[in-house]
Amino acid sequence: MSTDLCRCGCGRPVKYPRLRLADACYKRWSYRGFPQDVPPAEHGGNDGRRSERLEDYRELREWRQTPEAAAARLGVRPSTIRRYERALEAGAA
Ligand SMILES: [Zn+2]
Repeated sequence: MSTDLCRCGCGRPVKYPRLRLADACYKRWSYRGFPQDVPPAEHGGNDGRRSERLEDYRELREWRQTPEAAAARLGVRPSTIRRYERALEAGAA
């Protein structure tokens, strides 16, 4: 019945109640080495599902998965992966 939302402000439902973090946000936080402040979602906005997939893709990319393998894994088309790729390049300075 709880509809707690992630404390980073991304609007995703909480996955870890004690931390008040969504799944992707916990991953992002852990990836940064658990800084005192949870880093905000870089690709926020109202399309939570897309940014979650983008986070997943970012992770697959770090594991050096090919775009084709990542597309199959995420259940998206290769053209979507190319869009994620551009989004990540634009967002990651
Ligand atoms: Zn969040």
